[in-house]
Amino acid sequence: MVALGGTISVPGGARGARLSGAEITAAVPGLAELGVALDVRDVHAVPSGSLTFGQVLDVVELASRAVADGADGVVVTQGTDTLEETAFLADLVWPHEAPFVLTGAMRQPAMAGADGPANVLAAVRVATAPEARGAGALVVLNDEVHAARWVRKTHSTNPATFGSPSAGPLGHVVEGRVRMLLAAPQHEPLKAGPDRERLEATRVALHVVTLDDDGAQLQGLETTHRGLVVAGFGVGHVPGALAPRLGALAEHMPVVLTSRTGSGSVLRHTYHAPGSETDLRRRGLIDGGFLDPFKARVLLRLLLASGAGRDAIAEAFAVRG
Ligand code: ASP
Repeated sequence: MVALGGTISVPGGARGARLSGAEITAAVPGLAELGVALDVRDVHAVPSGSLTFGQVLDVVELASRAVADGADGVVVTQGTDTLEETAFLADLVWPHEAPFVLTGAMRQPAMAGADGPANVLAAVRVATAPEARGAGALVVLNDEVHAARWVRKTHSTNPATFGSPSAGPLGHVVEGRVRMLLAAPQHEPLKAGPDRERLEATRVALHVVTLDDDGAQLQGLETTHRGLVVAGFGVGHVPGALAPRLGALAEHMPVVLTSRTGSGSVLRHTYHAPGSETDLRRRGLIDGGFLDPFKARVLLRLLLASGAGRDAIAEAFAVRG
């Protein structure tokens, strides 16, 4: 188990220091009775909004070594704010059958109805469940098991915040038993993590298109960024006036089209007006499929940092999107 920080580790009140992984697990009723030998490591005790791609890849490497040394599975505790992105990043590179399970909490440990202990217990059950093997990175909260590629944080405060609006949960933890109902399609992990210096230098922008958007925010992007994800309206639309600007950017960098709606896929050939998905694809934008803007940005940055060219990037999105 790797402890990273977040609400699950915030003691609350005047206490400043974060709870360690050992303190988190000590407060979980029923965990000792599971008989799972937990090797708990504390790394990067920060709010999840301060995590970096490099730190997440470090955790994946640490977890990978643990699995190579015989661990049945991995649990990562972290803040919920960026969990949908870190989980997907881990999923893209996780090469093992052993489950890589991420969890957290919406309520601090000292609050009434704190959800951290139940989430840790469920996460440990999933990490050690034969049924969850081969499913890549999973997010377990509120007794639900979600695929890293579909899961979203959908509410700012509700403990039932994690959902997979396009797919539903893959499984549930019921009376302590892990019940997997669905299997997400599995893909080859991306080749060994990218060079870290290159990763840091690889900036990918995310532009959320809004009503009457004139694209002023995209000014000069060619010189500062190596890729762009566009979160378009509905099925992948932008104002007609913005389309040429996005087309011009697509001549300099990969530009991936996604939907800002929060679920569902962008379309490929249903609408034909300026700024429609057909128009944007003709101008060189890459179809992000079912990937939401945040996950598309994770994939694009990793691909660029690994040296992938435009064709390889388009192919990766065709497979994973
Ligand atoms: N701000 C916290 C974090 O992501 C929120 C949480 O853990 O739920 O670190």
